[in-house]
Amino acid sequence: MELDRKLAILADAAKYDASCASSGTTKRDSVGGAGIGSTEGSGICHSYAPDGRCISLLKILLTNFCLYDCLYCVNRVTSNVPRARFTVDEVVALTLDFYRRNCIEGLFLSSGIIQSADYTMEQVVEVARVLREEHDFRGYIHLKTIPEASPDLLARAGRYADRLSINIELPTVQGLETLAPEKDFGSIRRSMANLRLNIDAAKDAARPQPVVSQIAMPPRRARPPRFAPAGQSTQMIVGADAASDRDILGTSATLYGSYRLRRVYYSAFSPIPDASRALPLKAPPLVREHRLYQADWLMRFYGFDHEEIVPGEAGMLALEVDPKLAWALAHRERFPVDLNQAPKELLLRVPGLGVKAVERLLRARRVRALRAADLERLHVPLKKVLPFVVVADHRPGRELDDARLAARIAPPPQQASLFADA
Ligand code: SF4
Repeated sequence: MELDRKLAILADAAKYDASCASSGTTKRDSVGGAGIGSTEGSGICHSYAPDGRCISLLKILLTNFCLYDCLYCVNRVTSNVPRARFTVDEVVALTLDFYRRNCIEGLFLSSGIIQSADYTMEQVVEVARVLREEHDFRGYIHLKTIPEASPDLLARAGRYADRLSINIELPTVQGLETLAPEKDFGSIRRSMANLRLNIDAAKDAARPQPVVSQIAMPPRRARPPRFAPAGQSTQMIVGADAASDRDILGTSATLYGSYRLRRVYYSAFSPIPDASRALPLKAPPLVREHRLYQADWLMRFYGFDHEEIVPGEAGMLALEVDPKLAWALAHRERFPVDLNQAPKELLLRVPGLGVKAVERLLRARRVRALRAADLERLHVPLKKVLPFVVVADHRPGRELDDARLAARIAPPPQQASLFADA
């Protein structure tokens, strides 16, 4: 099979992995002679490096053959799709070629499972090894790891990759047993724990030793071995099973707490050809995925517990308003918050105030009393913030008790389309 054809198949098969996502745009190309560039070039996607830079990655599978039969996956053994497989040398050559032409800054490599977990993982690791050791490749490498692979192979993967990820796929054991019966929740968690131990050990080894004496020179230390310096991440599919948003966020909270994941990615289930009856016929609304990302942000940066973000029996986030506003509307007795007096934890709970805005308000109030004009200068959404706060020249009236407050603040719900034409 021609390399171009393989690239088309294996880049397309990789697009379902959101843990390094650039999906969502509309199709554009320059066929017909108008314009330049295309949004459909095979395999290049954008991701964010740990320092916040947006980088381009070659995002491909080593192969889309797979022994497993995960019902939600287009690459499952029973799927009727064209198959292809790269050799290690082909992936290395493609990566270097794209890199030299300045098309990419790194590689995201995943794979279906062929022969065995160890055999597949060996091939994936070999790509990274050849790039690093034989070509001195210094670009970003993200390897998708197979939880059933041996700890030794995972350890080798960490030596070459910047980031490792193991997809947990579904938030509950029951969901995994129903939709991905060959996968084992226990081994996914054991592998994540194993990665965490390796990442922590590498960080500890890299920390400077305390200087015990001004006179005695500390012994020279060999450079500590690196291990996935950009940490580990995972992905959960949303809407393929009956798991509620509370289930999903509860699992995320455990993953962040127990395995120190850098990111949990949420990927709205997309219907696939010849799908099993166990799967829904329709994708969940994209806004559900968006609300989960917002809730995830609240847990990681705003001090919210997942239990308080998702109220009610159904355990689902509201789709019409963002989760922070939903929480504030359900806890009006906690407002208004005096921006000149309240502790940081409370300021972070005010709808419309982000982490940076709160930091700037805390700095400003040390030298003067905050007024409404200070909020304006911060460019925070005043319509959203003012009903919930007190400042020197503003106190909300009865609007906090107004049953229509949500409707006045929140725009009418719209299906999200990130790249809709202006
Ligand atoms: S193991 Fe991965 S590639 Fe294979 S069917 Fe399951 S999700 Fe798809």
